[in-house]
Order: sequence, then C-alpha cells, then structure tokens
Amino acid sequence: MSGRSFAVTLASAAALSACVPPAAAPLAAPADTVAAPRDEPAPRPTLPPPPELVSPLRLGLPPAIAQGGVALGTAPSGATRLTLDGAPVSLAPDGRFLVAADRDATGVLTLSAALPDAHTLTATLPVTPRAWRIERLDQVAKVPVPDADFARRRPAELRQIAAARAADAVSDGWRQRFRWPVTGRISGQFGAQRVYRGEPGSYHGGVDVARGEGTPVIAPADGVVTLAADPPFTLEGRLLILDHGAGLTSAFLHLSRIDVRVGQHVRQGEPIGRVGRTGRASGPHLHWAMTWRGSRIDPQPVAGAMPAG
Ligand SMILES: [Zn+2]
Repeated sequence: MSGRSFAVTLASAAALSACVPPAAAPLAAPADTVAAPRDEPAPRPTLPPPPELVSPLRLGLPPAIAQGGVALGTAPSGATRLTLDGAPVSLAPDGRFLVAADRDATGVLTLSAALPDAHTLTATLPVTPRAWRIERLDQVAKVPVPDADFARRRPAELRQIAAARAADAVSDGWRQRFRWPVTGRISGQFGAQRVYRGEPGSYHGGVDVARGEGTPVIAPADGVVTLAADPPFTLEGRLLILDHGAGLTSAFLHLSRIDVRVGQHVRQGEPIGRVGRTGRASGPHLHWAMTWRGSRIDPQPVAGAMPAG
C-alpha cells in the first residue's frame, strides 16, 4: 500500500468516527423522550444464505455422468447464473443447459445455480469411471520425432483449432438428438490409448468410422462452421469444425473435400464434406471428435446406436 492511500484511509476513518456517538452515550433512549419504534427491522445479514443442496434429478440431470459423457438439464426458474466447478455454463432462455465430463474427469462435478433472492442451489454430479481400451505395444517406440516442416506449421494450426472451439457461436444444435455424420464400421473408439514400451501415448480423441473415400458426411446436428481447414492440416488433414452452441463442438478430420465455409449455418442432416484420408490417416475414414468447453467427450453415446446402412 502506498503512503498516500494509507493517509487517505486514516482520514476516512477519522471522518467516520466523527459521526459516531461517543462511546459513553446511552444505548437506549432516555425514558422521557419520545420512544423510537421498538420493532425496528433487524439489519440485513451481509452473508448470503448457504447453498441449498439438491439432487441432480431435480435439475433434470441423470444421477451420475460417465467420463466423456454429456447431460442435459433444466435450471430452476429465475436462475440467473449457472456454473460447473466454478466455470460458467450457458443457460438458454427456457432454462435448458448442457454439461459434460472430460474423458479424465474423476470424483464429482459441482453444479451451482444462482437464484435472484441470493439463494444458490448446488447439485453434485458423480462421475462414473469408464474402462478405456489400453493397448500395450512393447516392440514399438512412441511416435517418431516430428520433422522440421511439422514443427514450423503446427503452432499456427493449434491456434486455429483452439480459436474455432472457443468461438461460442449461437446455435440450438446442442438440444437436438444427434445423428451419425456417416455410418459404417467403427474402426477406432474414443479414449483408446497405446502404451509404447511402458510410455503412454496420447489417447484417441474421437471415434473413427471406416468408409470409402468420397462418402458424404452430414451434419450430426445444427451448427455454425468455425473452421474449414483447406489446404489440409499436418495431422487432421482437411478439418471441419462445427459449433453446436452452448460450448459443444464437433470436429471432422481427414476429409477429402469440404463443402461448407466458415460462418455458414448448417442444418442437421445437411452434407458438409466427404470422407477422405488427408493428414495422418492410414486409410479413408471419418474421425469425429467432440468437445465441450475444453472437455473431450465421446461422440458414440451422444449419437446413440448406429442405424444400419
Ligand atoms: Zn481417429
């Protein structure tokens, strides 16, 4: 604290004390003066009431959330602000909201809803662990050292991906029942991880669907295009990112063609590109990845059972 502001503080304290009756003044009014009303309102408490703990079911949420899972809920009417573990959660005008648990989330998530009367409702949502597929490769070394071209290009690509995922576009796609962007054999599951000679590699951040090059890819839900990477990125190839609103995004990797442009609003079921093998891909397939505010989530349970075809 600077000497000046300290001096100001002292001066303020002196001015305040001048307004306070001397300590010896009687606390009660003398009997012969007009009595002040006895039922003066008690001073308002300065601390807000403690949060009311509620069951997640009261907010329309499931009793627990799986690692990599999403859940839709409804905030109590009049709620002004919603947070999950202290981070803001988008609240639709009708009170609907979406929360998700990262692939590596553990313990419980704490959801808090602020009500207009300074009350806070708090629900704790336990995270159910999942058994991720772990493949141990004792004969193979971890990912080879990236070349100079990769090292030069990668930082800008990562910045574009981060910006596209943080765009916070306005869309109601998050409220829809998601569809598979392409159907086919699932050739890679979300969360799977390889351990190379005891050294864990990064886990698989999406679900892979194997289909022939050129197969149309459709929007799994309404969204706004926030990235259309063409020319292809080093790892993701032609990469398309859709923002479904409420912090929920989808990324489609290795496309042979992108048929939409940044800023375009696409509707569920609309063709957005074609399956390919651009970037680091061993064969034609769609890698579909989803995130919610930095949490990586598994698209497979979001899209549900895959229809035949
Ligand atoms: Zn993949």
